[in-house]
Amino acid sequence: MFKLQWPDFPSPHWFARGLGGNHYGVMLADDTVKAEGNILKIKPDEHNGMIPCAGTELVILKERLYLIAEEKNLFEQQQLERQKLLQAQAQVMQEQYQKERHDRLVILEKKAHDNNSLLQIPVRWTSGFKPVLSGLSRNSSGTGENARSVTHILLLQDIDEGGFHRKANGFLCTTAKGSNGQMWTGHHDTYSSGINGHYVSEITCKQCLKIAKRWQGKMTGIKPELIKK
Ligand SMILES: [Zn+2]
Repeated sequence: MFKLQWPDFPSPHWFARGLGGNHYGVMLADDTVKAEGNILKIKPDEHNGMIPCAGTELVILKERLYLIAEEKNLFEQQQLERQKLLQAQAQVMQEQYQKERHDRLVILEKKAHDNNSLLQIPVRWTSGFKPVLSGLSRNSSGTGENARSVTHILLLQDIDEGGFHRKANGFLCTTAKGSNGQMWTGHHDTYSSGINGHYVSEITCKQCLKIAKRWQGKMTGIKPELIKK
């Protein structure tokens, strides 16, 4: 790396592209450099005292007190190496991110499967979400929980057990009266996405889980099923 003295009268070309940007010059025979319409004095390399041969192309960067020059070939090679290094670092980061994401998805799917397997629901069921009714904001489920973030047990068949009744296409936690007479339309089944496709989401509705305890230990429950779209 070489230092060049600013010329006494720098040509406007040095500032045409602002303070950044590279400039190009060429070594002349008398230890001077021609660049941007100026002739500049070059100082020998600080480490080895060398000065580039006449005809060597230089890349010149602006510093406040002086200019810095590097041989163009060397500069471009270093730039290429810097780029390669940055690309390699980006690649490592991306692979790490992918692996972490993969591991996270595997853990979430296993947790959903394990916890859902503990439920002994006597009829066919899947995971479901409550539609956000128009006119209500997302957080106005009344429980302080985000309606969207809670996953319910969605029954696919009626339950008629003594004094306990639920209709198909309703949640285990919600009686017909409990829905405020609001008729739900469409489908409310939901699923989660794992690395190998969709699976039944983990049930997180506290009320659904509480009610499901009435069949705890029966071992006659039906496994949840994924609704094909
Ligand atoms: Zn529920």
